Amino acid sequence: MAFPHLVLGLILLSVLCLASSFPLAWHITCFTKETDSPHVHQLFRKDVSKTPPIIASIFVDSTINTRFVSTTIKKEIVNSAKVSQDVTFRFQLPPDAFISDFMMIIDGIRYQAEVKPKEEAQKAFDEAREKGQNAGQVKQSDSVDSTTDEFEININVSPNTASVFHLQFQELLHRDKGVLQHMIYLSPGQVVENLEANIYIKEPQGFSSIDVTWEQEDGQTPAKQLEQDRPSDEVVHVNFAPSMEEQEMASDLGLNGHFNVVYDVIHDDGPGDIQIHNGYFVHHISPEGIPITRKNVIFVIDVSGSMSGNKLTQTKSALNTIIGEVRDFDMFSIIIFSDTIETWETSLVSATKAKKEKALKYIRSLNADGGTDLHGGLVKAVDMFETYGLESPSAFSMIIMLTDGVPTEGKTNRDEIVNDITEKIQNRIALFCLGFGSNVDDLLLERLAFNNQGVYKQISVNGDPSNELTGFYDEVASPLLFNIDIQYTSAAVDPATLTQSSFISYFQGKELVVSGKLNPSFTGNELLATVMANSLNDRVNWQLSKEVKDDVPVNETSPYVVADFAERLWAYLTIKDLLLQSRITMLESKREEFREKALNMSLHYRFVTPLTSLVIIQADNDSVLPFSGQRNDDGLAEFEDYIFKGGSNADCVKSSNQITCFCLTLAWVVLRLMYMHKNLLN
Ligand SMILES: [Mg+2]
Repeated sequence: MAFPHLVLGLILLSVLCLASSFPLAWHITCFTKETDSPHVHQLFRKDVSKTPPIIASIFVDSTINTRFVSTTIKKEIVNSAKVSQDVTFRFQLPPDAFISDFMMIIDGIRYQAEVKPKEEAQKAFDEAREKGQNAGQVKQSDSVDSTTDEFEININVSPNTASVFHLQFQELLHRDKGVLQHMIYLSPGQVVENLEANIYIKEPQGFSSIDVTWEQEDGQTPAKQLEQDRPSDEVVHVNFAPSMEEQEMASDLGLNGHFNVVYDVIHDDGPGDIQIHNGYFVHHISPEGIPITRKNVIFVIDVSGSMSGNKLTQTKSALNTIIGEVRDFDMFSIIIFSDTIETWETSLVSATKAKKEKALKYIRSLNADGGTDLHGGLVKAVDMFETYGLESPSAFSMIIMLTDGVPTEGKTNRDEIVNDITEKIQNRIALFCLGFGSNVDDLLLERLAFNNQGVYKQISVNGDPSNELTGFYDEVASPLLFNIDIQYTSAAVDPATLTQSSFISYFQGKELVVSGKLNPSFTGNELLATVMANSLNDRVNWQLSKEVKDDVPVNETSPYVVADFAERLWAYLTIKDLLLQSRITMLESKREEFREKALNMSLHYRFVTPLTSLVIIQADNDSVLPFSGQRNDDGLAEFEDYIFKGGSNADCVKSSNQITCFCLTLAWVVLRLMYMHKNLLN
């Protein structure tokens, strides 16, 4: 029996010697489309004038479970050339998604990336690079209005090998304009022999509409409707597996576009729906069928010199549409600021036809000139609200401010402006800030808006800014509820874990989401939610009772269920909120506290957030691996553990056959000698 093992050992020796002459080299980059350029690092450059690597398969699996999405992309790339070559795994991520896992199998070895604090990841990365090891890290952008991120890894792989990449990312879908939307981008750059996507959606409230399409991004091909399988009222499955011929029909380079999943659930006209899973709950509130409530709105418009030209023209065009859409039972006014402050009317006025026409005439007459007293404009607006009356409000009060720059007149210190305006507003008015162009003070506007229950939005000067402005107004034009407070059975919920549960407004087409951890010591069997809010004619008081038991069995594995979806949804919401709070707080000590909490949760839940990075480092010659190295097939696992994990010879001797072990050890010695020789040459 010894002979076959000797032969096996010699075959392995030959394979390993060949492999050692084409050692693994790889690099990882991740960059945002707009700002960074890919950093390329290569240790070994080879002649690649041979058959380029091809993508043999792509499998996309996306599960949406009660708005929480987990998407996994698996890609296999084959290098069939006789030389080592670079292969690239590239993927476009949705802007709100956190990467939650990345793994690759290169030359049969599994590399599991680790999530580390950003600084620690950078240090490990720098040290590895200094030692001549290959290393890569993946960072998430931290921009206010983040564009789509691109995840890219370039790796140099041995001849005649297949590499497998596995990327997972997760996000919570936000309801906007009455729909929930999920997009999965796919652009392999070639026709792929095995390409399959499966999208599984489970919504306990059932679907009021659902549309799943493939949209080829050539500006010509109409969106392709994908067939839906509906095993029950609350689940939908979509399978898309285009043949090579079908991919060729899309373009010479195959598919280049995205899956577009657009749906909505069935809404009630009251307190919504609660799901409970494994000790966590998630409450979605999105009542429909209730009347639009009144709003009092003041438009605060920057007419400083920098707004002259196209910006003022576009602003006038947008205001023309917006003022026309203000409902006749609403109240409104206009304040303009440059180095002085001017009011159109001394108070809020009813949006009658005559008043709106007068307002439009005033807007047409505006000219841009002078400095930028942003603080003065806002103070005037709050004063106007104070005079009009903010006590016992019968309408939702909001300020919409539009500016293109930084304050230059009046109060110009950023902290003083935010503190002063926030103190004046006292949570009674929602402040929405629109930043026009690229020279705006993002941080100032973000802090002003989010500290005052509004939203900050950047408006691009390119494209169609007038449409962007009116689109934004449409989102906030129809409040259904305001001054909303949601409470839960106090003994049932751990209060420290409750996400935001008070909101100044709920707009038509949106959704409020509250999540938290159930108190483990709670012995009752009912979670009672109470939703209190102002509506058009009265103060609503809705109650929702939910039995405290898992809606999905905890250990159920199903393509329709994201593992621990309620807990991960809670973690996602909490981290997003902590990151926002850390940016907008005016207290330095609080900022650190929020960042620390967000960091710890990102590490615990293995999310790549703006505070963490994915890091993956090639084994050094001392065989120390900061990540797990596992062979896919069992045949070489022991030997690779020995080489790559620094196993002892005793472990090897304990293995099932000592002759095989001897041959493998001999192969390892030869391999190490060749590496040393190469290092000496380098
Ligand atoms: Mg200006």
